[in-house]
Amino acid sequence: MKNINSCCDTFLWKVSEIGKKGLSIIPIKESDILYFALQGRSHDVSEVADKHSMFQQAIRFCPWCGKDLQNLITENKIELAKLAELNKKYAL
Ligand SMILES: [Zn+2]
Repeated sequence: MKNINSCCDTFLWKVSEIGKKGLSIIPIKESDILYFALQGRSHDVSEVADKHSMFQQAIRFCPWCGKDLQNLITENKIELAKLAELNKKYAL
């Protein structure tokens, strides 16, 4: 998430983990609304397995530092919209 002022290092790291096994944070754009979701995966997307499980939950606050993510979204609208578009295929 280059060029984006994140709330904390863990959040930034988790955004770079989109599509990987474990927890990640994915920005999502639905028409004019931009938000973050916490995503969990049993396998990497590239991994071949009998069954892939995943979940996705929209979040308002950073799960690690507790900051309100709305400020982050407001300050980085353009960059986040690009990132959401780029990672669309990973969203549920
Ligand atoms: Zn944070």
